[in-house]
Amino acid sequence: MNDWNTWAERELSGLRAINRYRELIAFDGDGPIGTVRGQRVLSFASNDYLGLACHPQVKLAAISAIERFGTGATASRLIVGTRSLHGELESQLAQWNLSERALVFSSGYLANLGVLTALGEQDVTLFSDELNHASIIDGCRLAKARTLIYRHLDLQHLRELLSQTSGRKIVVSESVFSMDGDTAPLPALAELCCDHGALLVLDEAHAALGPKLAPTPGLQVLHVGTLSKTLGALGGFVAGSSRLIELLINRARNFIFTTGLSPADTAAALAAARICQSQEGDQLRARLRSLIDMLRPGHASAIVPIILGEDAAALAASAQLRAAGIHVPAIRPPTVPKGTARLRVALSASHTEAMLDSLRGALARLDSIPSHQLEHA
Ligand code: PMP
Repeated sequence: MNDWNTWAERELSGLRAINRYRELIAFDGDGPIGTVRGQRVLSFASNDYLGLACHPQVKLAAISAIERFGTGATASRLIVGTRSLHGELESQLAQWNLSERALVFSSGYLANLGVLTALGEQDVTLFSDELNHASIIDGCRLAKARTLIYRHLDLQHLRELLSQTSGRKIVVSESVFSMDGDTAPLPALAELCCDHGALLVLDEAHAALGPKLAPTPGLQVLHVGTLSKTLGALGGFVAGSSRLIELLINRARNFIFTTGLSPADTAAALAAARICQSQEGDQLRARLRSLIDMLRPGHASAIVPIILGEDAAALAASAQLRAAGIHVPAIRPPTVPKGTARLRVALSASHTEAMLDSLRGALARLDSIPSHQLEHA
């Protein structure tokens, strides 16, 4: 007889044996300081790049939205789940992304899935950077289109693949890569898409400090973003031409067949977006920039990877940091390619210089970090 629990235990043992087992660990706190299993820790793990998840105005906006609209949207947006707040947020996001219209999804993951499945029809070819996020990989897998993978940031390779392909084309890339913190050369990528008549789908989930795509005549582009990182809430969005957004409303199954974004998340993201576009937003970005420069001068983003290679080495380094009261997650395959397990340090404007000093001290005391990885850390 097949016993599913026995099977699951065997699978889990297999994961433990190769250092791929994952578990949920509760972090209790508001901002970078909290407790894990009763121990006080300083976290460098969250994607709350500007510290807006704990901003008083953002919290208040969420609370007020609950008072006015209740806790849930109660139905799909196309049934009775649309609230005035959704329209306000979508207008703000469209304007911010210099686009005609925007549409919010329940997460950034679903935004990528929605775009790629709704537009990736059978006669389309998708061109995807090899280090794109799992939500892009899954969107490509679910789409009826064929997918060609190009080497990470290798535009020459992309050009060759585009030249060899006829029919409708979509190029999909992150602007800031989630596990390496490096950036795509946006002007060259945009030019290449124009040359080949390809639609560019640009995932800007981690672009707290840019780079921003300059308006490019002739370029067809959809911006994918998340409300869950810089905007401190939960949800995702797509911004682009009115026609394409209208089509997503009619075709993206993970928009149509799911409940609308909650009023609290919508209001929090709207309040956070307004802060991002204000003088305070400029100050928070300048602060984040100076913290990044303390750890790795000139590095392009708030994501600072320290690559250790073997999974066990990354786990050991993360555990050693935890024992010192610092939480930096170990990132292992399949999130990153085999043999490139790493510590992923994520910085936030809510960190202080003293917190950065503590991190640097703890990293310097680690047993297993190759010296070249620490040169700037
Ligand atoms: N795109 C990228 C590049 C991401 O890193 C992530 C989340 N880590 C997502 C999309 C998904 O966003 P969300 O967490 O809002 O689902």
